Amino acid sequence: MSPSSSRLTIPQLPVSLTTLRTPTRLTNLTKPQFLTLTLDLLRTTLLLLFLLRLTTKTFLQLRGYGLVGTATQFYRYVRRRCYTVFLRLPFVAPKVKAELDKTLLELEKKLVPTGPGVKVYSTLPEQGWSVEDVRGELDGISGMEHTSWETGRVSGAVYHGGAELAGLQEKAFGLFGVSNPIHPDVFPGVRKMEAEVVAMVGGLFNAPAGGAGVSTSGGTESILMACLAARQKALAERGVREPEMVVPETGHAAFRKAGEYFGIKVHLVACPAPSYRVHIPSVARLINSNTVLLVGSAPNFPHGIIDDIPALSRLALKGGKVAGAKGAINLHVDCCLGSFLMPFLARTGFPCPEFDFRVPGVTSISVDTHKYGFAPKGNSVVVYRTKDLRRYQYYVCPDWSGGVYASPGIAGSRPGALIAGCWASLMRMGADGYGDTCLKIVSARQRIEDAVREHEGLRHSLAVVGKPLVSVLAFHARPAASPENRVDIYDVADGMSRRGWHLNALQDPAAMHVAVTLPIVAAVEDLVRDLELVVGECRGKVQEGKKGDAAALYGVAGALPDKSIVRELAGGFLDTLYKT
Ligand SMILES: *Cc1c(COP(=O)(O)O)cnc(C)c1O
Repeated sequence: MSPSSSRLTIPQLPVSLTTLRTPTRLTNLTKPQFLTLTLDLLRTTLLLLFLLRLTTKTFLQLRGYGLVGTATQFYRYVRRRCYTVFLRLPFVAPKVKAELDKTLLELEKKLVPTGPGVKVYSTLPEQGWSVEDVRGELDGISGMEHTSWETGRVSGAVYHGGAELAGLQEKAFGLFGVSNPIHPDVFPGVRKMEAEVVAMVGGLFNAPAGGAGVSTSGGTESILMACLAARQKALAERGVREPEMVVPETGHAAFRKAGEYFGIKVHLVACPAPSYRVHIPSVARLINSNTVLLVGSAPNFPHGIIDDIPALSRLALKGGKVAGAKGAINLHVDCCLGSFLMPFLARTGFPCPEFDFRVPGVTSISVDTHKYGFAPKGNSVVVYRTKDLRRYQYYVCPDWSGGVYASPGIAGSRPGALIAGCWASLMRMGADGYGDTCLKIVSARQRIEDAVREHEGLRHSLAVVGKPLVSVLAFHARPAASPENRVDIYDVADGMSRRGWHLNALQDPAAMHVAVTLPIVAAVEDLVRDLELVVGECRGKVQEGKKGDAAALYGVAGALPDKSIVRELAGGFLDTLYKT
């Protein structure tokens, strides 16, 4: 084949490639010619690499989300952009701002007490107060008007283990108030207790012999650390520089936070009815060579549903081949909420699917000792299958002028008092104590669930979300309800608020939930009674237009294509928290 014919058959090829096919001998080239050739070659290579990347990305996008899914995503994106432009129009923007300011002002009125009876201290007192004065004022502040968790009116939030346990924690705070585990030589007792707490939690979740963990400041930090460890491991062992993780839509917001903080792309997977568990085939499609972590909840916060951990485990173990990983992909089980209930379900005689380290693909589990472990707030544990994996969450600075610096997690100094409080709680409760609370809490959830499923006043208007097994019960308005039985679930939420209950409103789909705690156990009959009353009031009154608080917030938030207004509002809410 002559050079000219080869040029004819592939006319689209970049010049440099066709040039290469000509039998010109490189040695015959002048210096400028040689330079041009090299540059051309470089340009072509870059172009090809770019095209390869684009093709791979397109392929992965289509495989992960399908044609319809991708088109939907694109449509949503365009709609969102249009809406953003609309909101910025000169005759719209001031109105939006005025509405926002009004809403935030109302919020401020609710959250920040003012008036003649309220004393505000926003500057340091010139002279320190007497001990009696401080004590008196503390009493006053703790008595401020609030939703009564003490009488079991608050869903979740206060995972209280009773007055006696609180007294014990106070004792621990007093003894270890100054302690800081960053100085193990100064506070050997705190180091010992921390190691023991982690070991006890690991044992409860059947960590294997080589397992290891750390304690953290809460569920969010435990999750952040598990994501970080997975990212660092994949970077070190597989060279993954554009990490991705696959998270159930119902997974805790902390995973999305980790995605933002640590530059991990988050793929959200739907958890469709009737099981409301994460859709396993969709997870499978989203795994690729950049995947560093799969996530399952046991159970999740919104609906209290436990994802299919064994199925996720199979994907994680097999995913290693797909992803070109050495070994499997990491799988994190979020047991923050499940904490000290999940390990006691089976022992207490309740049904319980496999969820812990006995499932071979599970590599890390987050456990909030400050939830159903009844430890003081600011306590959680993340357990890893191996010590090597734990290493990847450590931070070490070998060359700091302040000395070699090493810390296990985000914080430097940490409150030893909280660790002491946690240790004391675990030791006081014991397996028998936790078994007992598990029985009470899960039975109470079952009681409310039975009422929603069976009571005449409730079953025609409400429907339970999935098949909850632990402490959370979620329900939504029965979709096929007859007009006289139809309710707006957010009106029900508002009605319960008016009766002094603080339950959670959920979105996508519109629903509400109760996370049963020990204080709620004692109030469960009141809850069922009030729910029946409120549903009775709301039945047949679904109206367009006029909305209550919850309906206004979630109805509007759900309908907005662009969430910038919600972001603004939420940001304003956070600002309000720091108003004196
Ligand atoms: C509470 C919770 C977390 C994280 O909780 P923190 O508020 O940071 O302690 C994570 N996952 C689930 C399912 C939770 O309920």
